[in-house]
Amino acid sequence: MFQENGINAKIKSATVKYHSSGQYYVSLKCEKNVQLEEEIDWSSVPDDQIIGLDLGLTHFYIDSNGKKVENPNYLKESLIKLAKLQRQLKNKKIGSSNYKKLQKKIAKLHLHIANKRKDFLHKESRKLVNENQVIMLEDLNVKGLIKNKKLARSIADVSWSMFKTYISYKAAWDNKKVVLVDRFFASSKQCNECHEKNTLLSLSDRFWVCPKCGTLQDRDINAAKNIKEEGIRLLRTPSLVA
Ligand SMILES: [Zn+2]
Repeated sequence: MFQENGINAKIKSATVKYHSSGQYYVSLKCEKNVQLEEEIDWSSVPDDQIIGLDLGLTHFYIDSNGKKVENPNYLKESLIKLAKLQRQLKNKKIGSSNYKKLQKKIAKLHLHIANKRKDFLHKESRKLVNENQVIMLEDLNVKGLIKNKKLARSIADVSWSMFKTYISYKAAWDNKKVVLVDRFFASSKQCNECHEKNTLLSLSDRFWVCPKCGTLQDRDINAAKNIKEEGIRLLRTPSLVA
């Protein structure tokens, strides 16, 4: 039996994996009977139990309540360290003991970065699913974005796609819902107060004043609010939500 954090599950199998950093991992496949919960009428979930997220580069995400979650700092430091080690590796003789030692060190750092990232994404996704009934996300074309050569961007893309996966399966476990909002939906340029489209808005404008209603808009919070609004529209038109 597997017993932890209130989970009681029957272990069906165990797989041992070796990682090139020198560490071993065991993954357990467990089985648990769960009671299926009642079908929820998603179109009647109150607005305050619904959240919209805008995933970005300035922050990891910004939500429709105005909360901004920073990108974790460890990533930047670790990436600098990684680049340094990889430069050192180039100067070592391939196959020498120093080369192998350095290789192992690099593998360990890769693993460290991956684990830190997973830890961050698990905690954030768990919090979101615990605190909300419905989570609205932008349906980013991650495959298209990964082609972008900028490192910061590609790292963010990987995190976003993992984040979406983590939110989706945790939501499914807890009988909650994820709604994907079309990425072509003009989430940044439209004022959430009066719905006027600000065509003069450029990417560098972090704040702007709506030319029609005069509201001072924070670019990312406004975008998250628009994602929530569009998601609610989809939710209340059941034929549009898968
Ligand atoms: Zn406006």
